[in-house]
Amino acid sequence: MNSLTVAMGLVAGARTAPSPNCDARPGGLSPGLIVVHGISLPPGRFGGPWIERLFMNTLPPDQDPYFATIQHLRVSSHVLIARDGALTQYVPFDERAWHAGTSHWRGRDACNDFSIGVELEGADDVPYDDLQYEALAELVAALQRAYPSLADGWIAGHSDIAPGRKTDPGPAFDWQQLEHAIRGRGAAFRREVLA
Ligand SMILES: [Zn+2]
Repeated sequence: MNSLTVAMGLVAGARTAPSPNCDARPGGLSPGLIVVHGISLPPGRFGGPWIERLFMNTLPPDQDPYFATIQHLRVSSHVLIARDGALTQYVPFDERAWHAGTSHWRGRDACNDFSIGVELEGADDVPYDDLQYEALAELVAALQRAYPSLADGWIAGHSDIAPGRKTDPGPAFDWQQLEHAIRGRGAAFRREVLA
């Protein structure tokens, strides 16, 4: 994959699909954490338009029984990485995306305020694709170049910041593979694993 560039809050050249589910970061906070998520709709099925429809508030509740239970949610992530590694950006990085929910990290609450949310199309117990690790590592390196506040390399899973409530990206996510891919690009990796 070619090196990514982040400028003006956007991944240069990435497909964009602006989600209405975002607002300003309170106090103009700079991002200091990248949060990794896994999502598939319906759960365990890949390739449909439904994640994007969820982020656009247009998920059809009659399409699948599961959709009726979540179509009221108002959520988004900054970026989605599909199974083939393709990136779509839904929220500019300088805005607050609504991905973390009730969350806590290193003494701070409300992680949406100060984090960048990246969804990988996946499921907790299905191996993620190598292309997704490569794309995520490229993105992390580009974000660290664009935002000095991310230079320490802090990264967390959704399950790290909302333990007991969220399980994604799940046991199938290989943190060592991600760390290796990030460090291989000369970028920093730092994760606090809860005891
Ligand atoms: Zn999540």
